[in-house]
Amino acid sequence: MAMRLLLNPGHAPAQRIADRVDLPGELQSLRLEPGDLVLPSPVNAHDHGYGIRTLDFGAVDDALEVWIPSLRLRPRTDPYLEALVAFGRLARTGVGATMHCHNSLNVDRLVDEGGAVMRAAGDIGIRLALSCPLLDYDAWAYDGGPQRLQPFLSPADWDALAGTIPAYAPIRAQLSAVEAVAAANTNPLIDVQYGPIGPQWCSNALLEAIAEASVLHGRRIHMHLLESPRQRLWLDQRFPEGVVTYLDKIGFLSPRLAVAHGVQLRPDELELLVARGVQLVSNPTANLRLRSGVAPIASTLENGGLAFAIGLDGTGLDDDQDLWREMRLLYLLQGGRSLTRRLTARHIFDAATRVGGQVVNAADAADYTVIDYRALTAEALFDDVDEAEVLLTRMSAKYAKGLFVAGREVMHRGELTGIDFDAALAELLAQARADQPRLEKQRPLVGALSAATRAYYATWSGLS
Ligand SMILES: [Zn+2]
Repeated sequence: MAMRLLLNPGHAPAQRIADRVDLPGELQSLRLEPGDLVLPSPVNAHDHGYGIRTLDFGAVDDALEVWIPSLRLRPRTDPYLEALVAFGRLARTGVGATMHCHNSLNVDRLVDEGGAVMRAAGDIGIRLALSCPLLDYDAWAYDGGPQRLQPFLSPADWDALAGTIPAYAPIRAQLSAVEAVAAANTNPLIDVQYGPIGPQWCSNALLEAIAEASVLHGRRIHMHLLESPRQRLWLDQRFPEGVVTYLDKIGFLSPRLAVAHGVQLRPDELELLVARGVQLVSNPTANLRLRSGVAPIASTLENGGLAFAIGLDGTGLDDDQDLWREMRLLYLLQGGRSLTRRLTARHIFDAATRVGGQVVNAADAADYTVIDYRALTAEALFDDVDEAEVLLTRMSAKYAKGLFVAGREVMHRGELTGIDFDAALAELLAQARADQPRLEKQRPLVGALSAATRAYYATWSGLS
């Protein structure tokens, strides 16, 4: 059985290779067997690096704002080990690059934690974009911050929570911390980016400073935008001219910007993003699990199309960080109802590779995933069915058998070459379990904060 090279999935069928000596030079080092298929590695273009996944620390899916307090139950573990397990899990599925939106809110720890995350990516061998968190506005509740929740909490719970209201570092200090993280980076496979968490959590002064710094340093920006219906409602009040128009006015929109989610974007806003060369990272499962909806991606196909990428956001369909399934879900959700598909396999693979590469600032990456295509098609009657369609219908992590990033073999037959994944996971779980007594005490308070958040937004008209 021939090997297949699918260098341009969705554009052209795979090339059959009878003998490995016929492989192009850069692929000569790949360990291949008959029946294998090689394609450019997909990029996970939005995530948060959960070594311990959210459900495992008790964060059950809910509406986004109600769910966010449950992230307080994330166990305190070593940031290196946490990232090592998260990146290792992805590499085992054949994903060669990831966007890591770091969650730490402590500017003093950012340089150390960023260093640990970058070391983990280097030890696994994957490509990394590290988005450094920037925020200074309306913590806990839009339109007023923590005090908005006080009427919905018992005095005792409010007193217990008041001590955890964040005190944000000055804008200059936050931006300097990003530059310090970037200065400490020596790995050419890593790109450090500005990570404003979302416009609802950033003051205008912060957004304007980031736009300016991005031009000055040529540094990319990665930001959540218009994920939930409540964000839409609040940002419409805060920016009467429209939040996207405002961002354009301050020079925030450019090809150096990727926005995550964008579920609530309106047609005129999508057009503006297309015109400015902004990329949108879609996280279809996260949008369903946190009840934000379905992003309006297929609707943009007519006017040149929005450049979109795909991300797991730590909340994949089977909660197993399988980007292949995420690609399938996006393909199905955006398929429409007409006789002929408008959003095709080509769009999905372009999103996962070309646009994903742009989001992690590695547009010229030459990374490859080897797939056990023989196993994937073991019961097929014909062997000339379009490979891109086969992958979008049936591919999942278990068929990924090799990963090569920048010429280095990162994974072979599910085993990582850089680290012992099972040992790292066992150690991380031991650290998490050691933190369990503290988390156990936190759980009732987190439950009260989530309930107060739900009660607060229920008072917003039309959003029960
Ligand atoms: Zn996210």
